[in-house]
Amino acid sequence: MTLPNYAYFRGKIVPYSEAKVGILTHALNYGTGAFAGMRGYWNADEEQLYVFRPHDHFRRLLNSAKILCMEFCDSVESLTETTKALLRRESFQEDVYIRPLIYKADEMIGVKLHGLKDELSICAMPFGLYVAKDTNAHVTISSWRRIDDNVIPARGKITGAYANSALIKTDAVRAGFDEALVLTEAGHISEGSAMNLFMVRDGKLVTPPLTENVLEGITRKSALEIAARELDVTIEERLIDRTEVYLCDELFFTGTAAQITAITQVDHRPVGTGVMGPIAARLRELFNEVVRGKRKGYEDWIVPVYEK
Ligand code: PMP
Repeated sequence: MTLPNYAYFRGKIVPYSEAKVGILTHALNYGTGAFAGMRGYWNADEEQLYVFRPHDHFRRLLNSAKILCMEFCDSVESLTETTKALLRRESFQEDVYIRPLIYKADEMIGVKLHGLKDELSICAMPFGLYVAKDTNAHVTISSWRRIDDNVIPARGKITGAYANSALIKTDAVRAGFDEALVLTEAGHISEGSAMNLFMVRDGKLVTPPLTENVLEGITRKSALEIAARELDVTIEERLIDRTEVYLCDELFFTGTAAQITAITQVDHRPVGTGVMGPIAARLRELFNEVVRGKRKGYEDWIVPVYEK
């Protein structure tokens, strides 16, 4: 991965090599940070970089910060402007990933959330595919369980919670799979290690409800809206049983990093016919047009970085 040249750190844009914290930093020791992950898409014809739904990402970041008792006053608009300034300083002309982070910055011993100072950092770097086999991923059902809302809220993008995601991902990859599906304590399908899940079964597009310990995914929300507007398919948000993913016709992940990744095998069983299905294929096409500013009607989802 190429490291960023710059970072927004302690209130200004500095060389990335100067954006450093001490080893006693609270968030580094106790996982008390909230983060976001968004993408910028390069449109070569327009010579424009479009950030995908930054307002929604920053709204979710501020919600995660609220769960962690952070008193963070920056608005969604000012965070978006800061991000644009950083991207302009980097003068990117390619697809990028953007990583904002709000973290408990005190250097001290003591497990708590209150009475600590919060700092914001943002950096960005060139970024391609996250799941290499994005049209034919092979997943397993993880032996780990998804963290519960009463353990570490999965609807918050909280740094410490990603130890759960890392356990899920590493065991899946070391067992030869591309990714994993993870179950709730009650045994229903929740999501992937860092992506939401959709299934097509009996002609219906199905995804678990937001109360199933999933992150409130912005790509999930976008896929639901695109499907409702552009595809002739019934949409259901309902619980998904483990064996349904063995019997369904299509399965795919949505996520900022994963974008729309088709799953074609679960635990060595083919999904549907064993190749990417028509709904995933069409959603991938539409999504790619939307994020690059090539589809009319979705202009309010994308924010241009460069002034024209
Ligand atoms: N679930 C988890 C656990 C994630 O980390 C992510 C990535 N942010 C997602 C789902 C997908 O969310 P989004 O579409 O907003 O990136």
